[in-house]
Amino acid sequence: MCIFCKIAAGELTTQFLYEDDRVLAFRDLDPQAPTHILIIPRTHHADVEELAAREPETLSHLFVVAEELARVEGLTGHRTLFNTGSSAGQSVFHAHLHLLGGRPFAWPPG
Ligand code: 5GP
Ligand code: ZN
Repeated sequence: MCIFCKIAAGELTTQFLYEDDRVLAFRDLDPQAPTHILIIPRTHHADVEELAAREPETLSHLFVVAEELARVEGLTGHRTLFNTGSSAGQSVFHAHLHLLGGRPFAWPPG
């Protein structure tokens, strides 16, 4: 079972900021901004494209939850992103939306 499937199954001590029947959210172990939250589907999909093809409504739900969490965190702006493939920085192959905020972000991203 992958690490995020284990988290979704409640096998680790991860504290959830949000959960419902389709998705859950928790803080990143290695935060890259004052707010760095991961929002994941409960179901296993290797990356966002696989999630989009198989469960498009869950993909859009991730963004609805991100918007709600950004509001709760009091963010004036935020960045949401998916890394796909190791060359783009993906290290956990269970689709997850990063929600980052609380500092300025450069463009283009590194
Ligand atoms: P990726 O690099 O795949 O886009 O993002 C994976 C993220 O998951 C990384 O930012 C990493 O810090 C985070 N992460 C990996 N393992 C764990 C874990 O067990 N708990 C939490 N909370 N975050 C994790
Ligand atoms: Zn998984």
